Amino acid sequence: MINIVKGTKDILPQDAAQWQNMEAKALEVFSKYGYKEIRTPVFEATELFSRGVGDTTDIVNKEMYTFEKNERSLTLRPENTAGVVRSYIENGMSRLSAPVKLWYKGPMFRYERPQAGRQRQFHQVGVEMFGIKDAAADAEVILTAVDYLNALGLCDLEVEINSLGCPECREGYKIRIKAELKKDFDSLCPDCQSRFEKNPLRILDCKVPSCQALVAGIHKDFICGGCAQHFEQVLSYLDALKIKYTVNKMIVRGLDYYNRTVFEIKSNNLGSQNAVCGGGRYDSLVKTLGGEDTPAVGWAMGMERLNSLIAPIEPQKLDAYIVSNSTTAAFGLAQELRGAGLSVEFDLSNKKFTKQLEKAAKTAEFALILGEDEVENNTVSVKNLSTAEQITVKRSEICTILLRK
Ligand code: ATP
Ligand code: MG
Repeated sequence: MINIVKGTKDILPQDAAQWQNMEAKALEVFSKYGYKEIRTPVFEATELFSRGVGDTTDIVNKEMYTFEKNERSLTLRPENTAGVVRSYIENGMSRLSAPVKLWYKGPMFRYERPQAGRQRQFHQVGVEMFGIKDAAADAEVILTAVDYLNALGLCDLEVEINSLGCPECREGYKIRIKAELKKDFDSLCPDCQSRFEKNPLRILDCKVPSCQALVAGIHKDFICGGCAQHFEQVLSYLDALKIKYTVNKMIVRGLDYYNRTVFEIKSNNLGSQNAVCGGGRYDSLVKTLGGEDTPAVGWAMGMERLNSLIAPIEPQKLDAYIVSNSTTAAFGLAQELRGAGLSVEFDLSNKKFTKQLEKAAKTAEFALILGEDEVENNTVSVKNLSTAEQITVKRSEICTILLRK
């Protein structure tokens, strides 16, 4: 017996309807905003992620599934922004008129400690908007996330938002964080001690309580005038759109590529892994990966976490189950009805009539009885399985009757 790999999960048939719903709503909502779907490969050159996600991040340092093939280092994508940006550049999408709006869904891979809401293969749905530096783009991207969550029936959510400033104001901030934490260096957790030189901003994001206590007192108003104005503009659009948010200066996000707006959307029903959505602006990434200087903003949502918040969907019943002793007659009727778009099954193994009826009662809305009498008289008996009401109709009329019901 070979078991499933730790940190991965099957999506079983009884859960598939919910996943189909998340995917259908994504297409529906994002299309309304002019997004087009993009599907990039599940593996990419490792360098795409070390350059794109950033080699001081946990994702690149600890979490990548990397393998070698033909002396080339490849990695299962831990996120999809880098892949989308690669494709944007490679396919010359900068020649399209801005904004270019793309959405994706699919599996991502991170070698993390599995726990509730945290897997090694998980799924994300996300959007990326290229070419607009104005605050309206940030606001519309956040609106798209909120709209999608609302379409899934999720309303008890909190948008937390912050501005990381531009690379210039962030340099000053990094120096300030280091200066203020220098005296406490020995009390930082080992991860933060290594972040101290490489990426001090990430210390703000540390989940270790003693580190959180140390950073609590740091002065966090550091962004320059231009960045502050951009941030105010984003917030005023959110106000106008009646999107509730809180400014949380501790949000720095795990990835290196963000600048200015960063945000997370949290649910109050998710326990400690409570972030469903993370995103922000990444104006330097396209250039970092070899493209033209192109502003961009986007987000990603964890679909497993989303799924755990959505009320279960009842599995769909078949429209009809044919109860018959004649396989040939059943095949004929089934194909006619399937051709008209109805879902129909019948017994393929010559079971007794009573067994067939039991199966029909469990799986379908209507039982279509094709007994000897019915075949002889060219009729079908239709039993409504929720009311037990039964009528006999002409064989030629059954399709129209069922379609009407
Ligand atoms: P976290 O802080 O929970 O590790 P993150 O900052 O690493 O999240 P992102 O890289 O921004 O997450 O990904 C966006 C979303 O993807 C998260 O908000 C979360 O819902 C989901 N996600 C991230 N990692 C996992 C995982 N290992 N298993 C399941 N979902 C995940
Ligand atoms: Mg993470």
